Amino acid sequence: MNDLKSARQSRAEAAEHAVVIAGGGPAGLMLAGELALAGIDVAIVERRAAGEELARSRAGGLHARTIEILDQRGIADRFLAEGQVKRQVMQVAAFAGIPLDISDFPTRHNYGLPLWQKHFDRILAGWVNELAVTVYRGREVTGFAQDDTGVEVALSDGRMLRAKYLVGCDGGRSVIRKAAGIAFPGSDPTIRHIIAEAELTEEPEWGIRHHARGLHALSKLDDSGLVGVLVTEQDLGRTDEPTLRDLSEALIAVYGTDYGIHGPAWISRFSDAARQAESYRKGRVLLAGDAAHVHYPAGGQGLNLGVQDAVNLGWKLAQVVRGVSADDLLDTYQAERHPVAARVLRNTLAQVALRRIDDRSRAAHEVVSELLQMEEPRKRFAAMMSGLDIRYDLGAGHELLGHRMPDLDIVTAGGPTRVFAFLHQARPLLLNFGERGSFDITPWADRVQLIDARCAGAWELPVLGAVAAPDAVLVRPDGYVAWVGDMTRSALIDALSKWFGPAC
Ligand SMILES: Cc1cc2nc3c(=O)[nH]c(=O)nc-3n(C[C@H](O)[C@H](O)[C@H](O)COP(=O)(O)OP(=O)(O)OC[C@H]3O[C@@H](n4cnc5c(N)ncnc54)[C@H](O)[C@@H]3O)c2cc1C
Repeated sequence: MNDLKSARQSRAEAAEHAVVIAGGGPAGLMLAGELALAGIDVAIVERRAAGEELARSRAGGLHARTIEILDQRGIADRFLAEGQVKRQVMQVAAFAGIPLDISDFPTRHNYGLPLWQKHFDRILAGWVNELAVTVYRGREVTGFAQDDTGVEVALSDGRMLRAKYLVGCDGGRSVIRKAAGIAFPGSDPTIRHIIAEAELTEEPEWGIRHHARGLHALSKLDDSGLVGVLVTEQDLGRTDEPTLRDLSEALIAVYGTDYGIHGPAWISRFSDAARQAESYRKGRVLLAGDAAHVHYPAGGQGLNLGVQDAVNLGWKLAQVVRGVSADDLLDTYQAERHPVAARVLRNTLAQVALRRIDDRSRAAHEVVSELLQMEEPRKRFAAMMSGLDIRYDLGAGHELLGHRMPDLDIVTAGGPTRVFAFLHQARPLLLNFGERGSFDITPWADRVQLIDARCAGAWELPVLGAVAAPDAVLVRPDGYVAWVGDMTRSALIDALSKWFGPAC
């Protein structure tokens, strides 16, 4: 690793941070925000220069669970103000193109939010900026070396950063994952698309076109004069950056003309390859977002998955860095998040198969479509696609354990409020709905908020339905239930110690 060698020479000048994040996309930004909230000195290294916007043609919206997560931090309104909420049939919750209504789900955000990724990234970056995160822009992480004490991170400008942990949020072609030697097994592509924003000189055939070669689309973007192009390529082996010529040839192969395409603002390739990092961690190096998993964008899940990875990892990494928790808390990140992404990979593979246009695939699509009109399958698939059914395996016990904490209306000493109001600072929360003062968590008082509350409403979760109201719940900073009041009190001590460090 020559970069590292030369950078080592300037070690004396190396800047030091507790955590360095490679990549300032959705996963990297969210993780930085979570760490900064916990008071951790975190820096992002982002390849794109300041002001260099992301092209529009990536994620088109947020699912309900992601909106809830942003609401937990008190920033959902910023996104809702710019997006357009459709409350009836979700624009972004669909399985194999079959719309899934979630308007009857028990959540404040029973909808998807159409919002282009470039706006999502910009709004999230604004929040991260308020939290005073250091961002090194216009340079890349080129390599790293780690030992028992930390990681040395080499940048493309010859600088070196030192950190206790490095997190690769650097996308599907992650340099960090490759440099760490983490295997990325999965399925090879069966479809490859070129996606672009460019200008045309001739009026094209607008809209989606199903063709023997696959799916294609031409759409008007806005007043900029740019056109959104999606065209299926025949050569599955191409993984290099596509050129205008590649785009022109692909259009001619389908439409018989390239409509005089020119002036591309952006051209890229993506495929239905589905791959997942074998391990999300190697020593002091971790992966989140597309760096840890890639899949076809069917159902619009990738950005959501990455943001939720970040929220699972952030508070755990913060506690380990602060020395509150042992390093093995980080193993729960892989244990909890790997199965969630594996399920997404599986459902995207199924969606690709269902959207083929041969007779058998079409018949299978019709059958699944009929199934999803039925109440129970619709609920299950809608909860899966919107992320509202995620349950981490935190062992046996109350049915709430491992599920997301519902944002109930509650009354506390401060008056009427709601549960998420106590998660804005990403601090753990013990909610006591029983007799006031029945808990003493003094040894964790510096870490865990203890709130006496009353709740008159029903406890209801998507798919699970109504659950018995517990006397108390312990809620992790990511909003998942770590202990429920009708389990034994010794289980509470175990849960507090397991998740938030030993008593002091
Ligand atoms: C056509 C298309 C449509 C999609 N639609 C949806 C959708 O509707 N909903 C959805 O949820 N998802 C969708 N996705 C997926 C979504 O775009 C990704 O899952 C999401 O961007 C992943 O976020 P990330 O932060 O992990 O990675 P990225 O967004 O890829 O961000 C990685 C960042 O790291 C930077 N970087 C890379 N290498 C380095 C390096 N070595 N050093 C420093 N910086 C580096 C990059 O510049 C980039 O900013 C779509 C994707 C595509 C291609």
